[in-house]
Amino acid sequence: MSIAGLCPKCGQRVLHVDVESVVGLVGGESKARCLSYSCIHCHAVLGVEIDPRAKPRPRRRPTTSAPG
Ligand SMILES: [Zn+2]
Repeated sequence: MSIAGLCPKCGQRVLHVDVESVVGLVGGESKARCLSYSCIHCHAVLGVEIDPRAKPRPRRRPTTSAPG
């Protein structure tokens, strides 16, 4: 008998998760892109992690004008 991954909230098997792109805040400032995994049945968040594909964001340049 195998142990199935169950949602801690609704008790359904977690065979799929909703993946959302969220922003991690440190001291109120956005620092990193994260991924949120939530139950597709009840939308309880099962976990959040730093997006491993996210590239470090370049610092904002002091450029002023944008065309258009
Ligand atoms: Zn659930």
